[in-house]
Amino acid sequence: MNVKLLDLQAQYVPLREEIRRALDEVMDQQALVLGPHVEKFEKSLAAYCGTKHAIGVSSGSDALLCSLMALGIKPGDEVICPTFTFFATAGAIARLGARIVFADIEPATFNIDPSWLAAKITPLTRAIIPVDLFGQVANMEAVNAIAAKHDVKVIEDAAQAIGAKRHGKRACSTAFAGCLSFYPTKNLGAFGDAGAICTNDDGFAETCRLLRVHGSGHQYYHKFVGGMFRIAAMQAAVLSVKMKYLETWHEGRRRNAAIYDRLLAGSKVVTPRIETGNWSIYNQYVVRVPDRDRVKKALQDKGIGSAVYYPLPLHMQECFKYLGYGAGDFPQSERACNEVLALPIYPELPEEQVRYVAQELLAAVG
Ligand SMILES: *Cc1c(COP(=O)(O)O)cnc(C)c1O
Repeated sequence: MNVKLLDLQAQYVPLREEIRRALDEVMDQQALVLGPHVEKFEKSLAAYCGTKHAIGVSSGSDALLCSLMALGIKPGDEVICPTFTFFATAGAIARLGARIVFADIEPATFNIDPSWLAAKITPLTRAIIPVDLFGQVANMEAVNAIAAKHDVKVIEDAAQAIGAKRHGKRACSTAFAGCLSFYPTKNLGAFGDAGAICTNDDGFAETCRLLRVHGSGHQYYHKFVGGMFRIAAMQAAVLSVKMKYLETWHEGRRRNAAIYDRLLAGSKVVTPRIETGNWSIYNQYVVRVPDRDRVKKALQDKGIGSAVYYPLPLHMQECFKYLGYGAGDFPQSERACNEVLALPIYPELPEEQVRYVAQELLAAVG
């Protein structure tokens, strides 16, 4: 049996006509840059996330960069983030010339371990970026509490967690600002790159809106040096259609996760732990297995796609050598890199394929 890690066509085919009609409307109107399609999407996104504002931008990476620019992060500042995350989280900090200060993760959730923060905050710290990895919201209460105590802003990297809830509150809604990605593999995927910034802060939202068009409100008059971070109207139109199905897709992933949980229980496979109070959207279903690379190969030989998010923690990346970190500095992150394996979990994945993956995984770990 062939099981793909992700099958985007399975999502596209049933929506083909609806999406094509939405794209035709944009093309017929030639309303290509910002305008009504972007405004409509931003409104529904803000309502969905439970924030006052949503600002559509060019990617999740640019959402992070634009947010840090809006906070005025500059050389000499320090920003704390986990070392076990996608590169963009830390890349945004480095691009502004600020110093990345890494923290380790909690082994159970793969999210930032707030107990690292007290020791890492200095008078130079300006922001903390917790990441909602794999679709589970980070310990926002703990992060927000320590940030408030030190007057530091929290930018939540919710790129993998749109719609996820913690104590009933959606990702992005409890931070100062939250960043989303609509990269095609995320639960809400565009037809290319797109992202958004969500916030309750009026001033910050306004600054982000200016920064996404080179810091210009009144055309050709520039208040700030920003970037070209606009979301494409075509992407907004696609996303507006897809938004309607997002909750159903989350449920599909959660249903598949529950099947894996049941079938893999009591084995050598460590299944994802979702903290009490958390409602995960399972952007990824990530297990830990012994001898991971061999297991991955065994699955591949049985026609099953899987992936390693992430093979090398950020503090050990070549481009961050200058920060002076080394092996052993963040043991939980380093261990995770050796053990994690993401299994197929997309909403349309048939139950029989989920069962096949579980069966072959159990056989592979022995
Ligand atoms: C996907 C992702 C991003 C970046 O999003 P892009 O839209 O691909 O630029 C940032 N952070 C995390 C944790 C991500 O998974």
